[in-house]
Amino acid sequence: MNKLFLLLFILLSCNASQHIATSTAKTLPKKADKDEKDAPKPKNIILMIGDGMGLSQITTAMYMNKNYLHLERCTTVGLLKTHAADNIITDSAAGATAYSCGKKTYNGAIGVDIDGKPLKTLLEEAEERGMATGLVATSTITHATPASFIAHQPSRNMHEEIAKDFLQTDVDLVIGGGRKHFEKRKDGLNLLDSLKENGYFVTGNFNKINKNIEKFYLFTAPEHPAKKSEGRNYLPQATALALDFLSRKSTDDKGFFLMIEGSQIDWGGHANDTQYILDELLDFNQSIGQVLDFAEKSGETLVVITADHETGGLSLGPPSHKEYKTKSDKERIAYNKRYYDALTMTADFNNDTMRNDTLYGMFSTGYHTAVMVPVFSFGVGSEEFGGMYENVGVWERVKEAWEHED
Ligand SMILES: [Zn+2]
Repeated sequence: MNKLFLLLFILLSCNASQHIATSTAKTLPKKADKDEKDAPKPKNIILMIGDGMGLSQITTAMYMNKNYLHLERCTTVGLLKTHAADNIITDSAAGATAYSCGKKTYNGAIGVDIDGKPLKTLLEEAEERGMATGLVATSTITHATPASFIAHQPSRNMHEEIAKDFLQTDVDLVIGGGRKHFEKRKDGLNLLDSLKENGYFVTGNFNKINKNIEKFYLFTAPEHPAKKSEGRNYLPQATALALDFLSRKSTDDKGFFLMIEGSQIDWGGHANDTQYILDELLDFNQSIGQVLDFAEKSGETLVVITADHETGGLSLGPPSHKEYKTKSDKERIAYNKRYYDALTMTADFNNDTMRNDTLYGMFSTGYHTAVMVPVFSFGVGSEEFGGMYENVGVWERVKEAWEHED
């Protein structure tokens, strides 16, 4: 009898693992009874990635910003399963490669599959389609997320090789840090010269970009740009410039593809620093507002806003365990410093009747988590992005939108 139970158990567990495998492989449900050709085709596609921007990060910023974020203007919301091919907890390289190339890969992979084979990215495909293209980030531009849209390397740490890959594409606009990976290289090459030979205007100054410039690289820092709280202030300016520049570049009505990353929300999570997360997310929020304003006016644009993963295992209190409850106020302050990163919100919420208005940012890790991330969308074809699905489903949906007739 026991053997029978054991057999049954084995059968059931096999079935369970098989179920996981199939649901991983098949990500996009068939929409059989819908005429694909009737679906509208977006002219411009803007993908915005808040690195490490999970629901708790979003909630923190929302409550600390008078209970409002521009994300609320999005008309469709979904949830994404973020796991990598080799790890239930993804890193930014595998996460961004899933979005840019539609394949789950190993952690650290930049635009390559699990065997290291290069995969075509959405940006490369947009180029082939004659669209204008751009990348904007608040990290070095060779960092995992932006790199995965333009480069193909086995490891995210290969900044110099990644920088070289930038020269293989005809991207129109690049704004971010990391000039040193192009200029001060171990191989002695000066890729800034090569960029200029390829027709790029290379600068570190926003004011130098004018209407006569065909395509450009704007380096905002030799390496990583500063934190928002330490003086970095270019994301809104970069967003406005990118939208204006790419609209003008989009000839023959071909449209543009733009990826904007709020890179350092993730670093706030790694540092278990709620204030850092908040500053970076509100900066990204401003960029989101500008993009949605543009999309509203354009009427031909699809905006997809998501994260590659959550970082820090952030949760929002209050702390409830017994030990904490027995402490005096003074002891609690010391305790909070040690275990929680407390944010006090009063002025920003405007609610006199609320008895408790303190958010405690509690972290469970200094790394990423496996928690699903939200995906928000707005504009032409945005309704396709609702539901709960694998991260590669974002790529599938963008590809599908491109297949629709004009
Ligand atoms: Zn990270």
